[in-house]
Order: sequence, then C-alpha cells, then structure tokens
Amino acid sequence: MSTETKQLDVIVPFLNEAESAIDFSRMAVELTEAVKSRFGLSTCFILVDDGSTDNSVELFEKHMQGKWKLLSLSRNFGKETAILAGLDHSDGDYVLLMDADLQHTTEVALEMISRLLANPELDMVYAVRAHREDDRLLTRWFAGLFYKIMNMGQRYEIPENAGDFRVMTRRFAAAMRQLRDRKRFNKGLYAWTGFRQERIEYLPAARRAGKTKYSRRKLLAFSLEGFTSFSVVPLRILSVFGAFVAVLGFLYGIKVILEVMISGVAVPGYPSLMVAVLVMGGLNLALMGLVGEYVWAALSEAKHRPIYILKSISGPAMRKQTAAS
Ligand code: UDP
Ligand code: MG
Repeated sequence: MSTETKQLDVIVPFLNEAESAIDFSRMAVELTEAVKSRFGLSTCFILVDDGSTDNSVELFEKHMQGKWKLLSLSRNFGKETAILAGLDHSDGDYVLLMDADLQHTTEVALEMISRLLANPELDMVYAVRAHREDDRLLTRWFAGLFYKIMNMGQRYEIPENAGDFRVMTRRFAAAMRQLRDRKRFNKGLYAWTGFRQERIEYLPAARRAGKTKYSRRKLLAFSLEGFTSFSVVPLRILSVFGAFVAVLGFLYGIKVILEVMISGVAVPGYPSLMVAVLVMGGLNLALMGLVGEYVWAALSEAKHRPIYILKSISGPAMRKQTAAS
C-alpha cells in the first residue's frame, strides 16, 4: 500500500445474502469510484461471511472487483461478532460499516465520510433512522422503553434508532478492537468509547431481496444482551420493587396478627392467601430468570472462549493475515 493515499476499509457482515450479492458487488464499484474521486481515498472491502449456508460466498467471490477480502467464520456468530472479525482484519485509516442487503446506500455513506473528513475533532459519524414508522407500534414502544431504561444513570448515552451504519477513524476502530466483550452489544460499545460522534438522519432503502435476519424474538434476546452488558438498572428496579413488596407484606402481617389477638378469628382469608402466594411465586420466578441472565452473561465472559473462529480468508487484498482471536 502506498503511503500517500489513505485507505477506507468497508466492513460488510453477511448471512445468506445470495440474492443481494451481485447488486452489492456492483454498488461496491460505484462506492469505490466515488470515494476515490471525492475524497482521494482508496477502498478495500472486508466481507465477513457469518456462517452463510447458501451460495453467497461464491457469488461475492465471483463478482467483487478491486481490493477486497472475504473472511468466513466457522458458523453463525451474529452480526456484532462478524463486525469484530472484520475490524480485527482491517488496518484502514477510516472504517465504514455497511450491510450487504443494500439498505445502506452509497449516498448516505458518502455523506457520512465527508462529515468525518471535514471535522478533525470527530471520530465517528453514524446514521440514524429518521423514523421507525415501518415498525409495528408495539415494537416502537418497546424500543423506546428499552433505551430509556438503558440510559438511566449512565455516564454515556446510547442513541436511539442508531444501527451499525457508521464510519469511524483508525483510532476509533482500534478502540473497538480492544473491547473484547463476548456478548457484544455494539451500540453500547460505540457509546462507551467516549469518542466524539455525530449523527446524520437517513431513510433506509427497502431491502431489495431476501428477508431480515432479525425476528422479534431475536430482537428481544438482543435487548436482554444489551441490558446484561451495559445496565444494572433492571437489577436495581428489582431490588427496590422487592423491598416495597416486603414492606407491604410486613404491614399486612401486623394487621393479621392484630386481628387474631383482638377478635381471635384466623380462618377466613383463603383468597388473599392464594393471591399473595401466586403473585409472589410468579414474581420470584420471573425475577430469578432476570438475575439468571446476568449470571449467564458473567459465565460466558468467564469461560474465555475465543469470540469467533475463522474458517478461511480469500480475496486479492490479503496484505495482513492475523490469526483469529
Ligand atoms: N447479518 C449477519 N449475521 C446475522 C444476521 C445478519 O451478518 O446473524 C447481516 C445481514 O446479512 C445484513 C446485516 O447483517 O448484511 C443486517 O441484517 P438484516 O438486514 O437482516 O437486519 P435489518 O436490516 O432487518 O435490521
Ligand atoms: Mg437489512
């Protein structure tokens, strides 16, 4: 690599995107040319196959042009981890993260790069969905609540509606590489670094082909991961609530004892007993499950397994081949 031209690495995690591979490869050429002419940067694509089971790898290998490499993970590790694998194999001066399904457009990418280059104080520009109207009301409501709890009493704020469509400087990428969380919640990690970041709003293009890899069930699991890696608020709410119920129970106990002492009748009260037992039993189970999530998160970190396993690397741009970590 020549020393004068700075390089932009574009990290693209993909899982079964055969239907988008050809269009993406075309878009990659377009982006490379635009980045060269507008900013004088050379571009290298780092495609990360996150355990695809279709022929997307072959299609990318056949149609990608210019400088690119393709890392294959040994199985599906999740998009967040695939991005880390890409970062581990990147040494660009700037790093752009992009989806393979063409929802992240060239125009927005160029706009983000120009913002980042224009302001040396900035270390990241990220794209925020202008609205979530395509989501169902319930999903939106849960998302809002999630961020509210997530950001309670935090020294840094995790912005709402921001995804992984981002461009960052070399030192930001280095910081991300240093964060070796096993259960990765990227939005939290970006915020945690503390670097100056700027947002731009965009309307994601419709997915051109294939379908989303994130079901509602996956989103729920994902938000639990966010909590366990970035927030103690659920546990605090739990403690406060537990204490509150305990006080109520104590007061009610005094009332029962007084009644027995004064009137001597202790038999009635089956309904209230049942309610108390069932409500408390149910709450106990649910809250223990929540505590279990945190324990599980702690256990996953403690096992010190590698975060991902690399199966193979291909492509013309393999300047640097670091071992999987
Ligand atoms: N993806 C991935 N691993 C996964 C799930 C998704 O690499 O386990 C990739 C996917 O192929 C796409 C990007 O992450 O390039 C965003 O996924 P998707 O479009 O399904 O998410 P959405 O845009 O619906 O939020
Ligand atoms: Mg998508």
